Amino acid sequence: MSIKIYNTLSRRKEPLHPIEAGHVKLYVCGITSYDYCHIGHARSALVFDMVVRYLRHCGFKVTFVRNFTDIDDKIINRANEQGIDAASLALRFINEFYFDMDALGTLRPDIEPKATEHVGEMIALIEELVAKNMAYPSNGDVYFRVERFVGYGQLSGRGLEDMQAGARVEVNDKKEHPMDFVLWKGAKPGEPKWASPWGEGRPGWHIECSAMSRKYLGETFDIHGGGKDLVFPHHENEIAQSCGATGKPFANLWMHHGFVTIKDEKMSKSLGNFLTIRDVLKQYAPEVLRLFIFSTQYRNPLDFTETALHDAQSGLERMYACLAQIAGLPAEGPAGASSISHQDRKGLESLAARFHEAMDNDFNTAQALGHLYDTIKIFNKILRGLPEQPVIDDLALVRSVATTFRTLAGVLGILQQDPVATVAGQKAKILAGIDLSEEEIQQLIVKRDRARTSKDWAVSDEVRDYLLGHRIVLKDSPEGTTWEVKK
Ligand SMILES: [Zn+2]
Repeated sequence: MSIKIYNTLSRRKEPLHPIEAGHVKLYVCGITSYDYCHIGHARSALVFDMVVRYLRHCGFKVTFVRNFTDIDDKIINRANEQGIDAASLALRFINEFYFDMDALGTLRPDIEPKATEHVGEMIALIEELVAKNMAYPSNGDVYFRVERFVGYGQLSGRGLEDMQAGARVEVNDKKEHPMDFVLWKGAKPGEPKWASPWGEGRPGWHIECSAMSRKYLGETFDIHGGGKDLVFPHHENEIAQSCGATGKPFANLWMHHGFVTIKDEKMSKSLGNFLTIRDVLKQYAPEVLRLFIFSTQYRNPLDFTETALHDAQSGLERMYACLAQIAGLPAEGPAGASSISHQDRKGLESLAARFHEAMDNDFNTAQALGHLYDTIKIFNKILRGLPEQPVIDDLALVRSVATTFRTLAGVLGILQQDPVATVAGQKAKILAGIDLSEEEIQQLIVKRDRARTSKDWAVSDEVRDYLLGHRIVLKDSPEGTTWEVKK
């Protein structure tokens, strides 16, 4: 079974066959560092974190490159507003980015090139394009000549005429064609600048990814990733620059993740409807945010709601509670007949295969999580049916599948805390907010159970109301009565 990835360029799922067998080279467009990161950035970081973890889990060597755009109009404008220099502003928000990424527990890419440290490579690439007549200097700037690149528009599926119709008409008489895009910008007064064959200036945004991916991954590499908003113009232009210069394919597979929406509107800084990563992490644990993000396959839009986050939190708590219970099972047991049904055994034993099947299918984390949840259901059923002294083989099976379970969950970066300590911590936090002890609550639940068995509804209701007075809500299910604190 091979991993299939939806390729934006071919518009179909394609098997992953790395150019160098067993070694995947991945380039992802990173942040422009001028502000705090929002949940859209968290999705991008977590999606590619999951991709890298899964590929490594499957035995691939992965070289993961993600850049920092640390010179850009947005950075310069923000720095001017704040009366500081662009470089210090960019550096500050790179550090803020690391703070958020460390909180989310994302793996650091192997190489994190900064645009400002690769201006030489960018100038060299622009010179190649000028020499090939694919780019032209114009009045201090240098532009890419889109009409010279035959494949222009292939990634976004648009022809030059459509693009022009859709684009804002920018008055710029330095360009030969309205869709020509800038590779080098002549210096304006007061802006950061570098010397170049075309005078002092700074690189355009698109050229940095072409130059840096080539330096670290080669002219052709396996996967290029980013958000859907980067398909056009950024990635379209990267292809034009790179293929224009080398005459070779650029990235073999193009992976684009969907937007994060709030009430079905795209979350973005310009719309002002964004939540920063640290805002969300004030309320929810990083694993909750991961679980929420992976509940949707990466290409689909992800709608951010309190309910969805709350559901993710309860889901995670359920999984930890089950794993904590398994951790508390006796170490030894007698030999004897199994109390686990054939079907449940099959369910447990097929977990890894089902999880891999979902992930191999274009990283379908939603389905993979579904298999983890199913397994928790089976575990809980088995735990309820285990005798006082479970047989040794049953204990061994449950424990070994629980280990597999946590390894697979680790691909999504969840369930990586100690289950027993986590459940104890959750309990302590809950009990700190109420004025009854756990024992008192349990005793009252037993009292109410007895009353219900003997159909003494008056006592049963009295106990329930008493607990409700202390903000404890009882929940009855075929598995017994549980409680939670009223919000
Ligand atoms: Zn890029």
